[in-house]
Amino acid sequence: MTKRRRAQLRNGAGIFIQAAALTAMPNETGGILLGYFRSDAIVVSKAIEVTDAQATETSYTRREADAQSALIAALDALSAETGYVGDWHSHPGWAKASPQDLQTMDAAAVELGLPLALVIARVRKGRAHLVPYVVDPSRWSQRTFAFKRAPTGSQSKRAPWNR
Ligand SMILES: [Zn+2]
Repeated sequence: MTKRRRAQLRNGAGIFIQAAALTAMPNETGGILLGYFRSDAIVVSKAIEVTDAQATETSYTRREADAQSALIAALDALSAETGYVGDWHSHPGWAKASPQDLQTMDAAAVELGLPLALVIARVRKGRAHLVPYVVDPSRWSQRTFAFKRAPTGSQSKRAPWNR
């Protein structure tokens, strides 16, 4: 019986996401999550912003090549067990993860064969509230190391009324 994992934000990763989300207002922004796996949790030890010059109030695209170079640059300073564990992006206007957000993450988890975290920063009135999700299609709890690459780029696009 495998336990459902949670996403745990550590070492200021949450504060980093909140600050980046507020700075990018009124547009969305996002990036990748670095960390490692425990049997009961995805531990996020670092968040990185991968800026999208075309981001709008309701869309953000994380481009694969940009994410990969940011990941490689950050890994040098991190422990060997640390790698890509998920994505984050902001939602100006307080919406939670959209069905597309979760489907995209789910597809990435299937591609990599491991559970992934998705953190949505809901931003309203100068505050950023973090909502962590875990997609775990395999429920494979034995994996204890993270991959050194990010999956294919992801995209957040919301209908203007979904805010
Ligand atoms: Zn989204």
